[in-house]
Amino acid sequence: MVQNINIAIDGPSGAGKSTVAKICAEKLGFIYVDTGALYRTVGVCALNKGIDTKDKNKIIDILPDVKIDIKYIDGVQHVFTDGDDVSEEIRQPEASMAASDVGAISEVRQYLLSVQRNIAKENNIVMDGRDIGTTILPNAQYKFFLTASPEVRADRRYKEQKEKGIDEDYDTLLEEIKQRDYQDTHRKISPLKQADDAILINSDNMTIEEVVNFICSKVKV
Ligand code: C5P
Repeated sequence: MVQNINIAIDGPSGAGKSTVAKICAEKLGFIYVDTGALYRTVGVCALNKGIDTKDKNKIIDILPDVKIDIKYIDGVQHVFTDGDDVSEEIRQPEASMAASDVGAISEVRQYLLSVQRNIAKENNIVMDGRDIGTTILPNAQYKFFLTASPEVRADRRYKEQKEKGIDEDYDTLLEEIKQRDYQDTHRKISPLKQADDAILINSDNMTIEEVVNFICSKVKV
C-alpha cells in the first residue's frame, strides 16, 4: 500500500497557518484540513444550546449529539452538523474563544482525534492546527511550526477585518490573541507546542508567498 503524505502545520492563532496551508495544498494537489473548524463547530453547537463553553460537564454531555461531517465542495472544506452547513457560523468572533474553551477538554480532543486521523489516513493532506505534529499525526512526514509575534498577528488580523469592512479595535484584537495563546499553550492536554522534529518558521518578516515556497521546497512528492 502506498502511504499517503501528511504535512502538519501547527502554530498559534493568526500566524497565517490556514492561508499558507491552503495554498500549499493547492500547489501540491493535496487536501487541506482545517482542524480549528472542528473545535469551532463543537463550540458553536454548545453556544447554540445556551451552554457555557467553560462548563466541562455540560460540554461532555452534549458531545455524543455533535455529529460532525466534513465535505469538500469545489476543493473547499465545509463542516456540517446534523446536515447544516455551519462553515460561515463558525467564523463568527464568539466562536474563536468558544473553540479555545472546548479545546481544553480532553474528551473533546479525544472525540475529534479519530475524525482527524481518518482523513489523514485516506488522503494526501496538509493539516493545520495546534497539536497535529505532536499528537494527532506524530508520524507525519513533514512538520512545520509557523509563528509570528502577537503584535504582527494582531496587525494582520486588524487589516484583514478592515478589508472586509469590519472595524475592530487593534488593542482588543491583541489582547484576544494573547489570551488565546495563553489558554492554548497552558492547557493540560495537548498544549500548543512545537514538535521536536518540526521546522520552526517565524513569519514576522516573511510574505505568505515566501512561507509557502519554503514549505513546498521541503516537500518531496
Ligand atoms: O485555528 P483556529 O483559530 O480556527 O482554532 C480555534 C481554536 O481551536 C484555537 O484557539 C484552539 O484553542 C483550538 N484548536 C485546538 N487544536 C487544533 C485546532 C484548534 O485546540 N488542532
